Amino acid sequence: MSNNNIQDAMADQKTFKALCHCKSSQLSFTVPTSSLPLPAYFCHCSICRRTHGTLCTIHAKIPPPKVDLNTFTAYNSTPTVQKLFCSTCGAHMLDNAHEEDGEAWFVEISMVDADESTWNFESHHFLENTKDGGLSTWLPEIGGKALRMWKRGSPSESEFVQPPKLTANPSTQGGKLKAHCHCGGVEFHISPPRGDELHKDSPDNMTPKDKTKWYALVDACNSCRLISGCAVIGWAFPEKSHITLADGSPYRPLFGTLKAYKSSMDVDRTFCDTCGAVVTYTCGDRPNFVDVAVGLLDAESGVRAEEWLEWRTHRMSYEEDCIWVDFKNSMKMG
Ligand SMILES: [Zn+2]
Ligand SMILES: [Zn+2]
Ligand SMILES: [Zn+2]
Repeated sequence: MSNNNIQDAMADQKTFKALCHCKSSQLSFTVPTSSLPLPAYFCHCSICRRTHGTLCTIHAKIPPPKVDLNTFTAYNSTPTVQKLFCSTCGAHMLDNAHEEDGEAWFVEISMVDADESTWNFESHHFLENTKDGGLSTWLPEIGGKALRMWKRGSPSESEFVQPPKLTANPSTQGGKLKAHCHCGGVEFHISPPRGDELHKDSPDNMTPKDKTKWYALVDACNSCRLISGCAVIGWAFPEKSHITLADGSPYRPLFGTLKAYKSSMDVDRTFCDTCGAVVTYTCGDRPNFVDVAVGLLDAESGVRAEEWLEWRTHRMSYEEDCIWVDFKNSMKMG
């Protein structure tokens, strides 16, 4: 037993730890055992999506953590909220909010080394911001327990109603799909697929049936989780040739406020050095593609950008990595 565990057993409390992908940023916090499971919620607000690049974030309120902030970058997403992410790998781990009644801390629960029973998944927040429901459409319940769906941040407000499924596609709309992070330091545009020559290099399991769209999927792999701060991330798979930067120049691996992070030998990732948003994933296997974090997209229809993207549903990539069994099974049904 470690010192922490002995103290915890004596004091009826439990200590949890979190460590980022590159292992340079860590934190711990201690809660009374009687407070478990800790209430957790999915936040779909634009700030969370555009600072993480994910479809939503998953937070729980915690007591002040033990943390050395020297390895973190702080980003003021509002005048009262500071988001803290690892300066090396970009993993968001903490929010620090200055509320009227004092300071409050929120942890990214996907980063915490704890089993599923630690969390009481209660609700989806700020679904109004998603237009199409975002991830909540695929996750109405976890482990048989329905999640409440709120238009905004609190139960005192009205409930969100899932909109009908969309059937449009970008070739009928024209134009380009804008992508940007929260601070605006990273911005680019994606063109719709053109012609039969496209998709020919994409692996079969990543090729859309509808050739007017790009393929997209939900990924639960450990690397993505420990880099984005969220248990699942949505990726879209456009070809590099269909990406243009804000100044009209062709795609290049680093632009704007992007910072590079190599998560394994063959995988290059980028995140925004200012706000921490996950932006791209590229690998040697698929040299013509650049995987784009869906949370950055600005589609007319909403967060899932279904007029642009064909989603693989009922199956996540790297499901076996998923940290929460009930969560995984519910995502597969959705
Ligand atoms: Zn890190
Ligand atoms: Zn949020
Ligand atoms: Zn940014």
